[in-house]
Amino acid sequence: MNNIIFFGPPGAGKGTQAKLISEDLSLSHLSTGEILRKKILEKDALAIKLKEIMSSGKLVSDDILNSIVLSRLSNESNKGFILDGYPRTLAQSEYLNNFLENSGNRINYIFNIKLSFEILKNRILKRSSEESREDDKIEVIQTRYSEYKNTTEKVSNFYKKTQSHIFYEIDGSQQIHEITKNIKKILKKS
Ligand code: AMP
Repeated sequence: MNNIIFFGPPGAGKGTQAKLISEDLSLSHLSTGEILRKKILEKDALAIKLKEIMSSGKLVSDDILNSIVLSRLSNESNKGFILDGYPRTLAQSEYLNNFLENSGNRINYIFNIKLSFEILKNRILKRSSEESREDDKIEVIQTRYSEYKNTTEKVSNFYKKTQSHIFYEIDGSQQIHEITKNIKKILKKS
């Protein structure tokens, strides 16, 4: 069983790597950002609320995220999953730990993709011209990065301290295929 978490600031390449690795190992790729962007298209009351929060660069509430993840992970087959964009708060990580404990499951690998603000800002601005995401604007990038530094980095630091045997730092400034190669090497080794 391979259950993996990807951490990293916005624009670090979590989504790209999670997609490549999930395809390679036939794992479910659970991108909470993607799931939320799909929900926005439903245009109901929740969609309007989500759109407002996400286009500001702030985090969506733990209750919404936990229920999304619960419903997806409860229906998982047994090959494993990749969490891309979750947990992002300490409350979410507690919720995840409880869920895993109750279902007799655990996380096997945690990859923390590191990247400087300068590089990620330029990457996201390039992506904005290709994908036109509402939150890929310069003024929103700063808020998303602050949310990462003030909240999500505390979660990855917590795992780094408590789960050091499965926690791997990855240099996100390399080429995509180099990063994938590094991750695959770690997955094969252990
Ligand atoms: P991403 O595609 O992972 O960069 O996520 C895009 C946006 O979705 C974030 O800026 C948040 O507003 C929201 N989001 C995604 N995952 C989470 C999460 N685990 N907790 C709270 N908000 C989230």
